[in-house]
Amino acid sequence: MPETPANVKTRIRDAAAAAPEKGLDAAVVEIERALVEGWVLERKGAIGPRSVPGFADAVVSALKKLAPPPPRKVKFSDPLRRILPLAEDSVKPAFDAAVLLLALSQVGDYTVVTDKKRKEHELFLDDWRRMIWESARIADWARFRSLVTTEERVLEGRLSRESVLAVLQAIQAKRIDNITPVPDVSVLACARCGGFRGADRARCAQCHGTFCTKCLGPTADLCLADYAARYAPIDAETRQRIAGDVKALLKEFKLDAYSRNESFVRALKEKGVDVVFQDTAPLEGQEVDGQHGRVKLLIREREGGLLSRRGFFGALARSHFRAEDLPLEPLQVDFFVEICLGLPIEDALRAVAK
Ligand SMILES: [Zn+2]
Ligand SMILES: [Zn+2]
Repeated sequence: MPETPANVKTRIRDAAAAAPEKGLDAAVVEIERALVEGWVLERKGAIGPRSVPGFADAVVSALKKLAPPPPRKVKFSDPLRRILPLAEDSVKPAFDAAVLLLALSQVGDYTVVTDKKRKEHELFLDDWRRMIWESARIADWARFRSLVTTEERVLEGRLSRESVLAVLQAIQAKRIDNITPVPDVSVLACARCGGFRGADRARCAQCHGTFCTKCLGPTADLCLADYAARYAPIDAETRQRIAGDVKALLKEFKLDAYSRNESFVRALKEKGVDVVFQDTAPLEGQEVDGQHGRVKLLIREREGGLLSRRGFFGALARSHFRAEDLPLEPLQVDFFVEICLGLPIEDALRAVAK
């Protein structure tokens, strides 16, 4: 039977429910296996980023049966909490379940999930860790670390147990002192730089790799390598010439990716382009012929927006190409704009050529 997200959730629910009868060891092994399937489904695109939070939430609710939050007040009338024993061999699969849950929390679209819910998940990870420690009689982090063998990474060789240990340890400390920051590390290595810094991960629409924000192109749906590949058809000599021209122009007009609108207006005026701010104009601007051979750039007024900066730099590029009597090739104009925005395309191209 092909695995589906619904099947995975059912397997986890069943395993958690059967734990009092079949033991915690069997439960954590089955839960970890099911979560691996869930992760594979996510990697295959069978669970879209928007569905990931709901999926993870269902898993957490099921697992709360095994790892409830600590009781606030213990009453004598309460039944004694039963701690199911966990063998040392089962500590690793139990921990890897947390690794996979945390990995899911970094690839899903959590923008619409409330802070309260996210906080709940964070606390659950600590409850899960506590359950492992109590059941397997682990007293400290050194012991825990030795049992989950951090040198080796799980799945695809790209999930870091080390990152998860750092996050879990911080959550535990935060629960006590309320100030320890949870480190901004990812469980999943960036497909380009291999780094774990920065928890945000996004997927490239072209190669489907998962990248850190530094290795994603500014369109945010292509990785830098695929972004650079777009510009590979421009020969190296032309690229070098454009890069040189950009450098000179930015210097001449004291412009950079963070310049204010007025600086663009002044620079463009000298280059024969009159900027006209209009509420109905497109954000990235639109050029029309003006009087006496001048050009008008109709653009919506948005200070500091990426689209408007692209619009201004695009107008600068075209005015430059016109002044130099160079053919107006859209790809070259785009390349010009990227260089203006400070994108390390040449580095990316070199990395691709390797
Ligand atoms: Zn990266
Ligand atoms: Zn890519």
